[in-house]
Amino acid sequence: MQPISLPPRLLMGPGPINCYPRVLTAMSTQLVGQYDPAMTDYMNDTMALYRRVFNTQNQQTFLIDGTSRAGIEAALVSCLEPGDKVLIPIFGRFGHLLAEIAERADAEVHTIEVPWGEVFDPQQIEDAIKKVQPKLLAVVQGDTSTTMFQPLEELGTICRAHDVLFYTDATASIGGNPLNVDEWQIDAVTVGLQKCLGGPSGSAPITLSDRFVEVVRKRAHVEAGIRDAHHESASGLRIRSNYFDLPMIMDYWGEERLNHHTEAATMLFGSRECAVQLLSEGQDAVLLRHQLAGDAMLKGIQAMGLKPFGDLKHKMSNVVGIHIPDNVDGEKVRHDLLHLFNIEIGTSFGPLKGKVWRIGTMGYNARQDAVLHTLQSLETVLRRAGFVLPAGEAVDAAMLVYAGER
Ligand SMILES: *Cc1c(COP(=O)(O)O)cnc(C)c1O
Repeated sequence: MQPISLPPRLLMGPGPINCYPRVLTAMSTQLVGQYDPAMTDYMNDTMALYRRVFNTQNQQTFLIDGTSRAGIEAALVSCLEPGDKVLIPIFGRFGHLLAEIAERADAEVHTIEVPWGEVFDPQQIEDAIKKVQPKLLAVVQGDTSTTMFQPLEELGTICRAHDVLFYTDATASIGGNPLNVDEWQIDAVTVGLQKCLGGPSGSAPITLSDRFVEVVRKRAHVEAGIRDAHHESASGLRIRSNYFDLPMIMDYWGEERLNHHTEAATMLFGSRECAVQLLSEGQDAVLLRHQLAGDAMLKGIQAMGLKPFGDLKHKMSNVVGIHIPDNVDGEKVRHDLLHLFNIEIGTSFGPLKGKVWRIGTMGYNARQDAVLHTLQSLETVLRRAGFVLPAGEAVDAAMLVYAGER
């Protein structure tokens, strides 16, 4: 038997991506007991760091153990009681995931949709809110399936005006695109590490406003099926998951340290290091690095004669979709990039399956050398597949972006 050994891939898909080396180092730290003050100090420290990452003062900022959808599920299952109305604007695959999770919570799910490659105008969302009068608006900020970035700035004010809670899944966008939780009045946000935060999948940072906390706390510690006499509505029906019961998880992370799960300490070390990386490099510097890498990749793709997917005004900085040219075998190109060049790029789902590749420039890989290697390798593979392109122009175009000339 051999120790683990994997090829040295450059992960330029829509996530996961290569981890920052310091994150991997942090994750090889030896354990201490979960109530050891050395450990609980790190838990508190991680909460404080993620408040800064989310740009919030929310006391309730912590980690859900599990992949990004664990965070989504915790937020939705803890908030939504059977029959509660939720409005979900869908502009890609992850909007459908929010709807699916809300349906399983037996919420009354209302969706509105735009074609893949577009985003919503805030007015469309406000109109739907007026019509549906939901308890919760749940919307994805950046959907990697379409590369689109939904502006959230105005939605918080709209939600407050109509007394609606506002949740967003910012997994794909955080770190590489702006997210100002308090300023934008977002009540609940969940993310994951494996996109622009530069860590592995397996931990879901979450932040909750006081008004969101108040709503989920009302459901705590109530016997199954018994309505809480202190609240008039059906409010009080017990949260239908132990693992994702936010009041229990808050009591575990809080002063009381009431036992819930065993903290996934190694993931916590990794999550904490992702935050330390982001904050010590500086949020603005990291945003700029993602913007540059994304622009350079886009300009390179266009210089090769390839056509980017979707409304570019609303593209996330950190991922680009590319229409697979006619007469080019998209899977063969991905295969050759992987096996000849050790570079992974992404395929697509649903309506875009077989039609669009997706290339990410995220976290540790939002770097000039990673962009240039990917463009040059893609050019070579495409040329050998018979696609006619102007040799060398992709890398030149990307270098001009880095030189500040485009
Ligand atoms: C990538 C991504 C996820 C990932 O969810 P996992 O459970 O970690 O696989 C969730 N939401 C969005 C918007 C994403 O882009």
